[in-house]
Order: sequence, then structure tokens, then C-alpha cells
Amino acid sequence: ISILSHWCDGKLEILAEDEVNNEDAESILGKLGVLEFDLESYNVDWMKKYKGKSEIVLRPKSVQEVSEVLKYCNSENLAVCPQGGNTGLVGGGVSVFDEIIIQLGRMNEIRSFDEQSGVAVCDAGVILENLDNFVGERGYMCPLDLGAKGTCQIGGNISTNAGGLRLLRYGSLHGTVLGLEVVLADGTVLNNLSMLRKDNTGLDLKQLFIGAEGSLGIVTGVSILTPKKPNSVNVALLAVPNYEFVLENFKLAKSHLGEILSAFEFFDSKSLQLVLKHLNQLRNPLPNTEDSKFYVLLETHGSNFEHDQEKIEMFLEAAMEKEFCSNGSLAQGEGQVRDIWAIREGIPEACGKEGAVYKYDISLPLKSLYSLCEVVEKKLINDKIYLPNDFENSLVKQVLGYGHVGDGNIHLNISAKQYDSRVLNSIEPFVYEFTKKNQGSISAEHGLGVMKGKFISYSKSDEMITVMKNIKNLLDPNGIMNPYKFLV
Ligand code: FAD
Repeated sequence: ISILSHWCDGKLEILAEDEVNNEDAESILGKLGVLEFDLESYNVDWMKKYKGKSEIVLRPKSVQEVSEVLKYCNSENLAVCPQGGNTGLVGGGVSVFDEIIIQLGRMNEIRSFDEQSGVAVCDAGVILENLDNFVGERGYMCPLDLGAKGTCQIGGNISTNAGGLRLLRYGSLHGTVLGLEVVLADGTVLNNLSMLRKDNTGLDLKQLFIGAEGSLGIVTGVSILTPKKPNSVNVALLAVPNYEFVLENFKLAKSHLGEILSAFEFFDSKSLQLVLKHLNQLRNPLPNTEDSKFYVLLETHGSNFEHDQEKIEMFLEAAMEKEFCSNGSLAQGEGQVRDIWAIREGIPEACGKEGAVYKYDISLPLKSLYSLCEVVEKKLINDKIYLPNDFENSLVKQVLGYGHVGDGNIHLNISAKQYDSRVLNSIEPFVYEFTKKNQGSISAEHGLGVMKGKFISYSKSDEMITVMKNIKNLLDPNGIMNPYKFLV
């Protein structure tokens, strides 16, 4: 009640549990125009794997409100959990206990767009797809694209340093974000919404907040460089007999399509089967390719359609001739481009519909990328958690893999009947040990969150972790920013 009273005369939107039901609370909530009492959607993550117990969700409308809230929480030692679109896959955006959730969805204005340079400045709560549509109407596109674009927010993307489907071509947010506005734990506003591509004056502080997962402050504003939308887009889907040939196709694609290649994605046949099973509207554009263990989706972004199509056709001919693929299809028109992408982007949703999913987002040298799935499958068989011919009695249903070959990033998904400690103990820390032994990273693009905070030492040295903790202590000495995660 005292927290609510504090903002009683403000414009802040507050959502609170209906437990707060005495008269005082009701009058306070009434004055504030509380919109809902059911906080379930804020307390549970996208996978329904992580559940918090927050009783208050604050939805600020301006940087001043965020500043005031953090100043108060810091002075009262109240922990907060920043939340964007809540599509994160490591449990970072939901509270662990009863931290106050600060949800950025009402900060959703695009502040400016420069049609010469392509620099967009916007609030952190703008949904990625809305930003993409806005700049799209002006001939530009977001440098970042991912399956959750209709829900995730640009502030969440920056806070997780999301990679997505076209990092291969347009690079990471560490390069395309030109400036940030951030509110620190004590309410200080760091305004660095630079629109400059070059600025070598002192330390580049914004880089600290890209991928900080809400542990250092709340991102409220973003300045981002958007590239020109391509005049010509081509998409091809290949059926590939084995993983070695996935890599051969990648090498071939780079030599035929180097300057126009914008995505090179892959998925195994088990992923495709799940999509076809659960997303009824989708069809396999390459029927009768059941013998192929893998599928490759490649995309080009260029400026001359005839020229690009000629190149991609030559690539396809060469791949067929060398038998790197058993079949291939070049999308004809925007509808087919969308349909092929829908298969790749539908895999996380299809996995979710199968039951519980253990998701591992791992970077590895390309040669060992898919072997991660193979060794995990073998391990689960040895541990008798996975019984290949006895799905009815097995806890684990299947092990599958897909991801961004172009970035050396695989998403290992273990689908199970339910979340169960026996399955988890069989997978972890095995997956992280394998990753470390093969010079990989235990988090390629999803971050650490609750899931991987305690495993950071598989990818970072003690000295590096100490420096990270020192920075955290400097910026958030009371430890109110998204505690119990990330750096634990
Ligand atoms: P949330 O989930 O709300 O939060 C994520 C983290 O950022 C939390 O730690 C939170 O505290 C913090 N945070 C959020 N907003 C702020 C803010 N304004 N200031 C400070 N901290 C903040 N990820 C990829 O990298 N590549 C993919 O290809 C990809 N594909 C996906 C596909 C699907 C179907 C789904 C469901 C997820 C996918 N993801 C992918 C994961 C997820 O979408 C990204 O991590 C996304 O960037 C999260 O954004 P969000 O707004 O939903 O953040």
C-alpha cells in the first residue's frame, strides 16, 4: 500500500493483485486507474517454464516516471525486474520472487527518423515489428529480425543483445545501436541518444547495457541505424542429406552469393516434422525428401532482381551438381517467401506445442555445431531417460536442432512430457561441459537470465567475472536491478 500511495498522484499505470482489497487500497487503485488485477501474464514467461510472484506491475509512460520509480525503489531497497515483451527464453524478464515488475509497453513512441541516414530514435517499449513497419514505409528496414518480432520490444532486444535471422548480413546490435537513454538504479538518467556513427570521445558506455539483461539499469530510449530495404529478395529451401553437406552448401553460397547473402539457416528433419504436425496451415515445399536429414533456408538481399535470381539459380545448379542437396526450391513471389520463412520461424512455437521444452542456445565452431544434438541424444539414451522405441514410457520425446549456421549458433531443443529434474540432471551440466570443451559459448544470443547465470564460468574466466561484478556494484550498489539472475 505504501508503494502504491507513493505514486498515487502520478500518471503511472499500476497493476496490482486483487489481494490488495481493503478500502484504502481500493481508493488508491481507483485514483490510479488500475486496469487489471490479473498479473499472470506478467509473472509467467513465454515457455511457461519460469513463474514469478510479483504483486505489482508498474507501466511507466515516460523516462521521468522510470527515473522516479527507480529512485524510490533504490532508497527503499526494493528489487525490480524490467520487462519488455516477455518473449525471452532464459527467464530474465519475470521476477524470481516478488520483485516489482517495470513493464515498458506504454513507452511506445517513435521519436524521430532521419531519411538520409536511416537513423531511428524511439522509446524502448516499441514492438520490433512496429518499428520495422514504420521504417519500412520510408524505404528502410530494422537490422534485426526474429520470430518473436510481433511481441518483443526493441529495449528487450537490446537488453538481450538479440541476434536473430540476419545477423550474418547486418551485424550485431553492438554495431547498429548508435545511442541509448538509460535510467540507472538510483534514478540518474544517462542520455546518450547519439545519432552519430563515429564518436570516439571516451568510453563507449552504451555497450555495457547491450546484453546486460536489465542488471545495470532500464533502457528507455534507443537510437538505431536501419539499413535500406532491399529491392530484391530471394529465398531458397534445400533438402540436404547430411550435416557435412550443410557446411559445403554454406561455403558454396558464400562464394556464389557472398555480397548478397542475408541469411543462412538450417533445421533438421525432426524440426520440420514438428512444424508440419502442429502448424496445420504450413506445407512442406519439398515433398518426398524424407531421406534428407537437414534443410537449409538461404536468403539474398540485393538491388537487382534479375541479377540476383541468376546468381541464386547458378548456386542451386552447382549445389545439385555436386549433390550437396537432393532437392531445392526457389520461392516464386512474396507468398512463397513468407511460407518458407514461416516454417523456420514456426519451429519454436511447434516445439512448445509438443509439451515441455529444454532449450539451449549455443555457439560452437561450425564443424561441431550439430554434433551437440547427437551427443545429447546419445547421453539421454545411455541414461535411459530417452527410450527411442518406447515414446509412451519415455520422459523425453525427442532431441532436435536448428539455428543460424551463418553465425555458428545452434538451438538444441529437448522435448519432454513435462519439466522433470531427472531430465534436467541428465542434460546439465553436460551440455555446458561439451560446449566449453569445444570452445563454444553457453549463450549465443538469448542471454543468461535465471537459467544460465550460475553457469557463466563455462564461458568466462574468473577475472572477467570479477570485473563484471565490480561494474554491477558500481552502477547498482544496492543490487535492486533484476537480482538472482545473470551474475549470481
Ligand atoms: P523480455 O523477455 O521482456 O526481457 C528479456 C531481458 O531483457 C530480461 O532480462 C529483462 O529484464 C530485460 N529487459 C527487457 N526490457 C528491458 C529494458 N527496456 N531495459 C532493461 N532491461 C530490459 N532471440 C534471439 O536472439 N534470436 C532469435 O532468433 C530469437 N527468436 C525467438 C523466437 C521466438 C518464437 C521467441 C519466443 C523468442 C525468440 N528469441 C530470439 C528470444 C527473445 O525474443 C529475445 O531475447 C528478445 O530480444 C526479448 O525481447 P523482449 O522485449 O521480449 O524482452
